[in-house]
Parts: sequence; C-alpha cells; structure tokens
Amino acid sequence: MPKSLLVELPERLCLGNLPTPLQPLDRISERYSLPFGGPRIWVKRDDLTEFGMSGNKLRKLEFVAAEALSRGCDTLITCGGIQSNHCRTTALVGARLGLGVHLILRGEPDTLVDGNLLLDHLAGAKVSIYPPKEYTAELGRNFAYWQEEYLGLGHRSLCIPTGASDGLGIWGYLSASQELIEDCHSQGFEPEYIVSATGSGGTQAGLTLGCQLLQVKTKVTGYAVCDSAAYFEDKVREDIFHWSRLTGNEINLSSLEVDVNANFIGPGYGAAGPEVYQTINEVASLEGILLDPVYTGKAFHGLLHQLRNGSYEGCSNIVFVHTGGQFALFPYRQNFSFQTV
Ligand SMILES: *Cc1c(COP(=O)(O)O)cnc(C)c1O
Repeated sequence: MPKSLLVELPERLCLGNLPTPLQPLDRISERYSLPFGGPRIWVKRDDLTEFGMSGNKLRKLEFVAAEALSRGCDTLITCGGIQSNHCRTTALVGARLGLGVHLILRGEPDTLVDGNLLLDHLAGAKVSIYPPKEYTAELGRNFAYWQEEYLGLGHRSLCIPTGASDGLGIWGYLSASQELIEDCHSQGFEPEYIVSATGSGGTQAGLTLGCQLLQVKTKVTGYAVCDSAAYFEDKVREDIFHWSRLTGNEINLSSLEVDVNANFIGPGYGAAGPEVYQTINEVASLEGILLDPVYTGKAFHGLLHQLRNGSYEGCSNIVFVHTGGQFALFPYRQNFSFQTV
C-alpha cells in the first residue's frame, strides 16, 4: 500500500535527479552480514542527486532556494568547514539559479584550493575564511555583517544555517523518506533500519520525522561524525520542533525516537583513523562505491562494526543513505597508501 506523509509540501525547485537509485550491496552483505544471520545492506544513492551539486544538501536546498526566490532574495549566505559539501552545493545551486553566493568558511586562510573549496571558487562564490576560534566566536556577527554589506549594495540575501539544518531544510529528507520507503516497497521489503551520517542533524531529523508520519516501523539511526549523542538528540528534536512551528503541523515530540550512535567519531570532525580509510578502500574495491573520510566513510565503518558485533541480528534489510561527499577524498589523499606493481 503506498504510504503518504499526510502533510502538504511547500514549494520546491527541481534541482536533483530524483528519485535516486536504491541498490543492494551484495559483496558487503556477503562478507559482513548474511552468513552471520544479519540483514541485507542496501544503499540509497543520494551521492547521485547531481554531479557538482551531488549529495544530501541538494535535497534541502531545493526547498531553501525556493524560499529565497519567493522572498525576492538574489543572494545566499551560508557557512561551514573549509571542505563543506553544503557550501559547495550552495555555490553551484546559486550559479545555476543566477543568485550571488557568499560563503563563511572555517579554516586557515592560506589553505590549498582543492576539493570542495576549488569548486566554490569555480562556481563564482565569494569566499571568506576565518580561523576556527574566530569563526565559532563570531559566526552570528559575521552573518549579520555580510547581510548588511549586501543590503548596502542593493542585494537582499537569505542566510542559510550550517548544513541547511533547520525547520525549512528538513523538508529535503522528509520528502526523501517517502521516496525511500516507496523504493523499498517496490523491492518487496520495509527496512528495519535506515542509517546515515549525522553532521548537523537535518538529514536525520527529516528521516526520523518522515518515518513517524509515514507510520512505518523503520528506525532511523544517525552515526555522528562530530559532537555527542546528547547534542544531536537535542538538535534533531529542535529542527523538528522548528518545522512544526513553521508549518503549523502538530507532532508528538515525546513519541519521537531519536537514535544517535556517537561511538565512531574518532579524533573529531574532519579527522579519521586508519580504519575509516580502510573502509573507504574496501567499499570502493568491493562495490565500486566511493565514500568520503568526513561523513560517509565514518558512518559506514560504524555500520560494519555494528553488523559484526550483532547489533542488527534478526533484521532482514538495512538501508544506508549515501549522502555524498566524494570531492573531499582528494584533499585527504595523504591518508591513503597504495603500491604500484
Ligand atoms: C552534511 C553531510 C552529512 C550530514 O548531514 P546533516 O544533515 O548535516 O546531518 C552527511 N554526509 C555528507 C556527505 C554531508 O555533506
């Protein structure tokens, strides 16, 4: 039976190639799961939403950019790490729509122009880079400063928070949850779990709320890549609460299950141990799928670990949402070692 979210979607732009494919990971499932009574692992290819604009942020920006246009904005201002996928996607979305983009980035100003940062510049975004301490302390003031600056030049801007994770951005994965459950139903199953990487919370918030509204039994687990489980349990609820206030849709926050696994963060945001690089190498060579060291590689490493320790015993199907991030492989190249023969 087709499932519906039973809520009215706001305006959105069609920027992604949707629906993205749902594919089984046969060799990973054979190596890590099926022979031990574990589930079949599937991947929802949200790394294929576009090429330059690939990844999960494009789904959010379909709604955010529509809002910017409806408010008469001609400029987008957003923020993130120096290799932010969200900022790169925003830069390219702005170029595609003829909007100006200003990026407030956290990092060292003399960073090599590589990976996502290279694409930011190619897309014509204006880039300001702040050292980490200053970035964190001054973020709110910098948004206000640049917004004022553009206003002085006659440009109306929309400020987009980190990762476009708020009550507006979560529409991206609220609508994706319906697409994903429909994909699964057409393959003849309903997954016990949907898992993905959590970095600012909006993807997990959308999927979690979506599964509740769709009234499926599927649980959503976010593998955190930074911060703590408590932080994201609050953040996911906050984004859902914000959505509820913006839309007037009532939701039962107390019956909402927010499941965060923060055991695989490793050294911290943007830093990973050798086991993550090994996982990236293994998944690329076994399945032809490219993960990244900041988000998907960490989350997938966590998933494999949990499969091995029997956490998913008794489940039949798990879907890993591949949220993209491949451009970050290049600036992290020094963490891989290969030999020629
Ligand atoms: C931003 C991002 C995530 C995390 O999504 P959030 O909604 O910010 O939690 C996961 N994977 C990739 C590749 C990302 O760029």
